[in-house]
Amino acid sequence: MVEASEEVYSSLRRRFKGDLLLPGKSGYEDARGIWNGMVARTPSLIARCADVNDVKNAIRAASETGILTAVRCGGHSLAGFSTCDGGLVIDLTKMRNVTVDAEARRARIAGGCLLGSIDTATQKAGLVFPSGVVSHTGASGLILGGGTGWLTRRFGLSCDNVAGFTLVVADGSVVRANARENPDLFWALRGGGGNFGVVTEFELKLHPLSSVVLAEGLTPEADIRRLLEYWRDFMAEAPHDLKWNIDLRLAPHTKKIPVQLRGRPVASSSLIWTGDPEAGHPFLERWLTMCHPDSVSCRTVPFLSLQTMADDAFPHGRRYYTKSGYFTYLDDGSIDRMVEAVASIPSSETQIELAYLGGAAGRIAAAFTSVPT
Ligand SMILES: Cc1cc2nc3c(=O)[nH]c(=O)nc-3n(C[C@H](O)[C@H](O)[C@H](O)COP(=O)(O)OP(=O)(O)OC[C@H]3O[C@@H](n4cnc5c(N)ncnc54)[C@H](O)[C@@H]3O)c2cc1C
Repeated sequence: MVEASEEVYSSLRRRFKGDLLLPGKSGYEDARGIWNGMVARTPSLIARCADVNDVKNAIRAASETGILTAVRCGGHSLAGFSTCDGGLVIDLTKMRNVTVDAEARRARIAGGCLLGSIDTATQKAGLVFPSGVVSHTGASGLILGGGTGWLTRRFGLSCDNVAGFTLVVADGSVVRANARENPDLFWALRGGGGNFGVVTEFELKLHPLSSVVLAEGLTPEADIRRLLEYWRDFMAEAPHDLKWNIDLRLAPHTKKIPVQLRGRPVASSSLIWTGDPEAGHPFLERWLTMCHPDSVSCRTVPFLSLQTMADDAFPHGRRYYTKSGYFTYLDDGSIDRMVEAVASIPSSETQIELAYLGGAAGRIAAAFTSVPT
């Protein structure tokens, strides 16, 4: 593998505009790390591309040598798919350009963008792209895998809101995929993950929105089962303007938390309402009766605050372990298991996150994108 990386390095050295980072050289150690500290790998070469030509050259060199290759946008792959041992990493972190056409409600973003840079640029025009809930996540990996977040029920999955992709494929050529050009590839890129090529540009559909109502509160352990049953039944019919996420965890030992709940198992709810604020209040009332009254807050927040409020809870470099899956229906047995699990949850760093999807995301026909249904 080392020989292959030497071959790639020699082939790129003279024409590469970005950085070619080798083990032991300046910048390599910082560039090697990804978000999940559990994944510590040592590529033989990190090619930090400056533009599409760099991506083309890196892919051609990789194809010619057959070197093991990983592609990186934000480096948030929990499993570590954006790095490798002994191979080449095609790193897009320098390619973060975002341009917004406010009139057409479209944005073009480069393949290395983080969610935060899209939100900041689109909010200048009072527009949003529905993406994830942590602003330092990479946009490419998230969109290619489907992409869920606070706006999923209102505007659909992230991949439902892509009008077109530009990518460099394995022979180094540039290909476009949209409703007219390469429609099969367009289908595959919306939810099928990486490995169809390196996406250098996404054309995104945007929607007007600049603030939401955010309600938060804690349900004590004794009422968690009742809350989950209510959530399951109520959300099946709830308006698309409402998103309700629940975390089952231990309440932190902080001043804001009622004394009786500190360190105890709780259901921590976050509800957002994207419609007319007055119209949202009736939907919150039943939920409020299931929360500790001193734990509840309800306020209008700017969209950028919503999108960054979880950032500090998921810092880079910690050793994370997660599992995830979809329920078509949350039956009583699954609720029982969750109630048992939160009663014996091992640490304040452990949680079960529940996000109710559906809404606009559920209106997209199964054959329209490659997101599994
Ligand atoms: C803190 C945190 C919060 C998250 N929140 C959400 C959330 O709210 N909603 C949600 O849906 N998901 C969420 N995720 C999951 C996240 O969407 C995936 O981990 C996603 O793969 C991250 O994208 P990335 O670009 O940062 O990842 P990377 O690790 O850079 O890449 C992930 C995969 O995509 C491929 N890839 C990256 N860039 C390109 C490209 N330009 N072209 C082709 N392939 C490429 C890589 O090869 C790799 O296989 C979260 C993850 C973390 C760690």
